[in-house]
Amino acid sequence: MASFIRMSDLDLAGKRVLIREDLNVPVQDGVVTSDARIRAALPTIQAARDAGARVILMSHLGRPEEGVYDEELSLAPVAARISELLGSKVRFEREWLDGIDCEPGEVVLVENVRFNKGEKKNDDGLSKKMAALCDVFVMDAFATAHRAEASTNGVAKYAPVACAGPLLSGELVALEKALHEPARPLVAIVGGSKVSTKLTVLENLLGKVDKLIVGGGIANTVLAAAGQPVGKSLHEADMTGIASGLMERSKQSGGEIPLPTDVVVAKEFSAAAEADVKPVENVAGDDMILDIGPDTSECFAAALEGAGTILWNGPVGVFEFDQFGEGTRVLANAVARSSAFSIAGGGDTIAAIDKYGVREGISYISTAGGAFLEFLEGKKLPAVAMLESRAGGPVAA
Ligand code: ADP
Ligand code: MG
Repeated sequence: MASFIRMSDLDLAGKRVLIREDLNVPVQDGVVTSDARIRAALPTIQAARDAGARVILMSHLGRPEEGVYDEELSLAPVAARISELLGSKVRFEREWLDGIDCEPGEVVLVENVRFNKGEKKNDDGLSKKMAALCDVFVMDAFATAHRAEASTNGVAKYAPVACAGPLLSGELVALEKALHEPARPLVAIVGGSKVSTKLTVLENLLGKVDKLIVGGGIANTVLAAAGQPVGKSLHEADMTGIASGLMERSKQSGGEIPLPTDVVVAKEFSAAAEADVKPVENVAGDDMILDIGPDTSECFAAALEGAGTILWNGPVGVFEFDQFGEGTRVLANAVARSSAFSIAGGGDTIAAIDKYGVREGISYISTAGGAFLEFLEGKKLPAVAMLESRAGGPVAA
């Protein structure tokens, strides 16, 4: 288990507390259109404020060109929204790197960290300036924990004290529990379009899971590797060797990869395409496999219902079109019904969870796309590594 200082371990009264959140929310015409990420950060902000800290919040928004101010990517609308949610005024500071005033119990949001030259390159000079703003740095943005940037990594190196905020530590505890101390059987679902983008995830999970359910283009590639016809389905012909290797390893390690026995096919990729269910061996040369079939869904659902822990990334079909969403719908409901500790993440996966209305039944939904995948790949996240090293004492500035 990661060992770092937690914000809740510290006395924050009167201290200048710099908190890195992920407040990268959609903004239209100066108004925040979805405040889910702000709401997620709210308990951390409230806890620091209520402890009497001088709270300085920082975040990125979008992808501006460094060194150039862009009003469309200003965090000013976010300050307005946090003020409403907190019920007290959050001051917004456009110029902040040379120091700002903040009273105990006050909350200040500073302008988009990505407007600063050196943010992405984790520049030392910039990191030191950020660190000089605070007595305590709190890393609370799990979604950026896989990036070593000045506001996520460098600042933690030079701040007098660096710790993890409740949102970050909550997500890490949930993920570590699922991956390293899972209640068994541990069943993973890895779907989506390509083996190539999820190869490291598949390889890492194979050594840990009892069952690895594959779907989508990944399953098509595995079927092709097993010598099954896949017609015009999305698959990666150059990955079949690797897919065969995964199947071989699964036999040795005992982490079973069950293959679909029936599939839903169509002659074209469109919202109006007619869906046809077939046994896998009957897929024709002009068929596209766009979902797993009902027998397969039932069999996979049974495995999920008996699981102790479930990890889910990637839909098992083209769920955006209703007629190819049944497999994903059935599995989503099985995950939700299961008493297993379940974790799901990924942009399209979350869209599917919302489409089928199963949010409530899932133990933990990770909103951190890239960081979630890197965690599943078994990588040590740079922000976490830094917090761990800082738990041993300050690094000389
Ligand atoms: P996530 O964003 O959750 O990580 P991915 O981006 O890897 O998921 O994959 C989701 C996409 O994969 C969806 O747009 C879905 O339509 C597509 N997909 C799933 N199954 C198939 C299939 N059989 N053929 C083509 N595309 C598929
Ligand atoms: Mg996606």
